[in-house]
Amino acid sequence: MPHTEYSCENPTFVSIVVPFYNEGSAVDCFYPALVNVLDRIPTVSFEIICIDDGSSDDTLTRLRALAARDQRLHVIELSRNFGKEAALTAGIDAARGDAVIPIDADLQDPPELIADLIASWQKGADVVLARRSNRSADSLAKRTTSELFYRLHNRLSTIQIPDNVGDFRLMNRAAVDALKMLPERQRFMKGLFSWIGFKTITLDYTRPARVAGTTKFSGWRLWNLAIEGITSFSTAPLKVWTYIGGIFALVTLVYGLAIVARTLIYGVDVPGYASLLVAILFFGSLQLISVGILGEYLGRIYIESKGRPTYLIRANYGGDREP
Ligand code: UDP
Ligand code: MG
Repeated sequence: MPHTEYSCENPTFVSIVVPFYNEGSAVDCFYPALVNVLDRIPTVSFEIICIDDGSSDDTLTRLRALAARDQRLHVIELSRNFGKEAALTAGIDAARGDAVIPIDADLQDPPELIADLIASWQKGADVVLARRSNRSADSLAKRTTSELFYRLHNRLSTIQIPDNVGDFRLMNRAAVDALKMLPERQRFMKGLFSWIGFKTITLDYTRPARVAGTTKFSGWRLWNLAIEGITSFSTAPLKVWTYIGGIFALVTLVYGLAIVARTLIYGVDVPGYASLLVAILFFGSLQLISVGILGEYLGRIYIESKGRPTYLIRANYGGDREP
């Protein structure tokens, strides 16, 4: 939708979507910081959609208290912790804005950038990405593993995820509607965001440290997210076994011919126990790995085939959505 359609009677309406999981200590820093920025963009009206992703602390209580004061705030309480991807999906589904901006609750996505995102959108971009040009606030291990992941993912997949771009971005209504058409239950948002395409521009920012609380993504959870990302957007890990198998079949054929020739020339000799064992173990592990990879995909097909919803809403609070 081009921005020129909006007039004074019909001001631009933007949805900010914020997932919260045990962010009790961050809520009271995040909200004033966000509102402070929004109030300085008078030409645009906002709704702030907060998703409580099954927090076990006082996040929901604090969000409800804020919603009671601020009409722009809608709180969606999920029935349990569904994970950030599902929480974001819930928020984006509920968003009614002409543009939607997902943002983290820990102020690692600086709200000050929202004005720039909106300005770029109003100049005609469909999607405006915020790229972390400096991630020194993240640990070295996190930076290296994430870089490795992006490289591997982009090698394997036809969909390129831009480097160092998180979920913080602006999408116009057309892009959001396109995103909502993607039916998969297991949602690797960074990949889905890229898959839809649209006219995209990128802004840079420096990623600050978390304002309060701790990261919700342990190494194991990130590992699983990485597997999710690769299996959702590439079948290369499935197909590679044809080639690996082919190469080893060739090598084995040559080796077999060499053995036959040697036996014919020099006669039978018995040794070979060690090489036999190594070959059996090696091919045994290769087979286990390939079966494991089949399992990763099969498991995902199984989950998708059940067609369970991505998230369940327990209640809505605030704005005009009070039950
Ligand atoms: N989050 C969520 N559900 C989860 C895990 C995280 O909604 O199961 C939210 C979290 O509250 C935060 C955002 O996702 O607003 C990013 O999480 P975090 O800051 O822990 O990730 P990191 O910045 O360390 O990658
Ligand atoms: Mg964070």
